[in-house]
Amino acid sequence: MSCVVEFRTKNGTRKATLTPLKAIRQKCLDCSNWQTLEIRLCQVPLCPLFSFRFGTNPNRKGFGGTFNHLRKEKNAVTNQKQD
Ligand code: SF4
Repeated sequence: MSCVVEFRTKNGTRKATLTPLKAIRQKCLDCSNWQTLEIRLCQVPLCPLFSFRFGTNPNRKGFGGTFNHLRKEKNAVTNQKQD
């Protein structure tokens, strides 16, 4: 899911298609004057974007990913066949 968003940058405004998390990241960069350290040190836990300020959704931690467990099983089966 993504949408067209107009956001401020260091050099003016820009329009781009962003995912919601990337749009939040851009808002946090704008809010902290494009200082990534300031986003990390944000002192506003009541801000609705606070949990998402690193461009990730902490509620989805552990979901998705690279399917490493499936890859390991596939490799194990492949190695057994070769033996
Ligand atoms: S989370 Fe912090 S940096 Fe991001 S918009 Fe809110 S106050 Fe600004």
